[in-house]
Amino acid sequence: MHLALIETRRLHLVRGYSSLYDLCVRCLGMSEGQAHRSVSGAHAAKSFPLALEMIADGRLHLTGLSLIAKRLTPENHAQLLEDVAGKTKADILIVLARWFPKPDVPDRVEPVSDGSGGGEQGNLGLDGAPRSRVEPLSEERFLVHFSGSAELKAKLEHAQNLMSHVSRKLEVVFERALDALIRELENKQWGKTERPRRSGGRKDRRPSRADKREVYERDGAQCAYVSPSGVRCTARAFLQYDHVDPLGKGGGGEARNGRLLCAAHNDLHARQAYGSEIIDEKIRRARSRAEQGGAAQTAKDKCERLRVALVTMGFKKAECCKVVAALATEAERLPLDQLIRDALLRLTQR
Ligand SMILES: [Zn+2]
Repeated sequence: MHLALIETRRLHLVRGYSSLYDLCVRCLGMSEGQAHRSVSGAHAAKSFPLALEMIADGRLHLTGLSLIAKRLTPENHAQLLEDVAGKTKADILIVLARWFPKPDVPDRVEPVSDGSGGGEQGNLGLDGAPRSRVEPLSEERFLVHFSGSAELKAKLEHAQNLMSHVSRKLEVVFERALDALIRELENKQWGKTERPRRSGGRKDRRPSRADKREVYERDGAQCAYVSPSGVRCTARAFLQYDHVDPLGKGGGGEARNGRLLCAAHNDLHARQAYGSEIIDEKIRRARSRAEQGGAAQTAKDKCERLRVALVTMGFKKAECCKVVAALATEAERLPLDQLIRDALLRLTQR
């Protein structure tokens, strides 16, 4: 945080930089974002030495300090700094929303021009597409932004019309839609239902819907991996049904031998149970099967397009099928136009 010192002594001016920000970008090679964080951090640190202390001992990061910098006052700084100590950026935004709640914003659907994505600067993802954003307004309320297609807008209006007797508010429509989606996916993936049947307790290799439901509810829809030192994995996405006693070693699919694991921990468990070599080989074989499947699918697809092309040209269906069958082994290797030329040659030579 020597930037504060540089500014106090006006060293940046002496060196030919008009501002601390200018020095950060042109002399220290920082990105605009980094420079902005560093400068606002330096300003806050100058007025509130406690912030500097917290940066130095690692209780607060520069991004965090830049987020709260404008909100610090002589009256609130000690408490606010304590509230954000040790927190991630996302958690600090929630603390700020609690300290300085903002009102709800009205529903808005607006067109965005291509490329701009409606995104303010710095709001684009790695692929240049606008990022969706969930921003806390207060402790209990959030602002949700995202871009969508014209089809999505049409579906939204359709849903609003269907729900018009209840409410046309986006919040109400989306929440209802998400409830329906969650119900559908939890039922499909984890057997959740309003009228559950109990697990039969029988030993079977594959878990039944009742087993899946029991494990999903017992593990609270979260990866159940706990490290030897007692840290539980917090993953809630890409969850898989894992056999505690592995399937290949006699373990059954019943709920008491099941648990939810994220893909990474499922992979770890498999490697611990069977050894990395065997798992790597399995992955390699599965990939090659998928690739072969893909190639076979393309070849089949090409044959079908060839047949349709020949029939459209006026050749008899039976003849077309014969030629296509004769060329089937070549279909994987040759492009469609070459296949059509070969087929025409065969058909016209007869
Ligand atoms: Zn996990």
